[in-house]
Amino acid sequence: MTTSLSSVSARLCAACGMCCDGVLFHSVELQKEDSPRQLASLGLKLRRKKGVEFFLQPCSMHREIGGSCSCVIYDQRPARCRLFSCKQLLAVTDGRSTEAAALENIRTARARVNRVLSLMAQVGETNPNRSLAHRVANALTLPPNTERTLLHNQLETAMRELEALLDQEFRIDGITPRH
Ligand code: SF4
Ligand code: SF4
Repeated sequence: MTTSLSSVSARLCAACGMCCDGVLFHSVELQKEDSPRQLASLGLKLRRKKGVEFFLQPCSMHREIGGSCSCVIYDQRPARCRLFSCKQLLAVTDGRSTEAAALENIRTARARVNRVLSLMAQVGETNPNRSLAHRVANALTLPPNTERTLLHNQLETAMRELEALLDQEFRIDGITPRH
């Protein structure tokens, strides 16, 4: 049995938000069908590099209130946001998994994200405007003559465990709509 993508994504994405908040991706490239002027007028902070327009994650249009995630410009969001479905969404909509199982995977991933964030706070990393992977890389790049601590090793392990779960359960092989 298959389930409507929009009804599943309404529930799962509200509990997740990881393809908007900098956990899964660093940035999102605009597509031909996108209007940079219109997206900028909605408040999206666009950048341009080598002729390609993009915006960084965490996305400034992402909101998380009371544990529920949403997109401020949902009806007018960029093409790649509209077209992206993670493995969990696809598995539920085509009947290979259940919504309960997908929610459990999301909970597990969010718990691993929280573990990484907690360890970063303990090592003193404070740059919430970058993707999680960038933040961890920065936190693990120490000044010369500075020794790694147990916390740095724990952070590296926690990030490795999170990335393994994201690759296995969320990212789509061969498709990197946001990277
Ligand atoms: S990673 Fe999947 S479940 Fe999470 S918000 Fe994105 S599309 Fe929705
Ligand atoms: S525009 Fe909306 S859907 Fe796209 S990354 Fe930002 S919050 Fe997510």
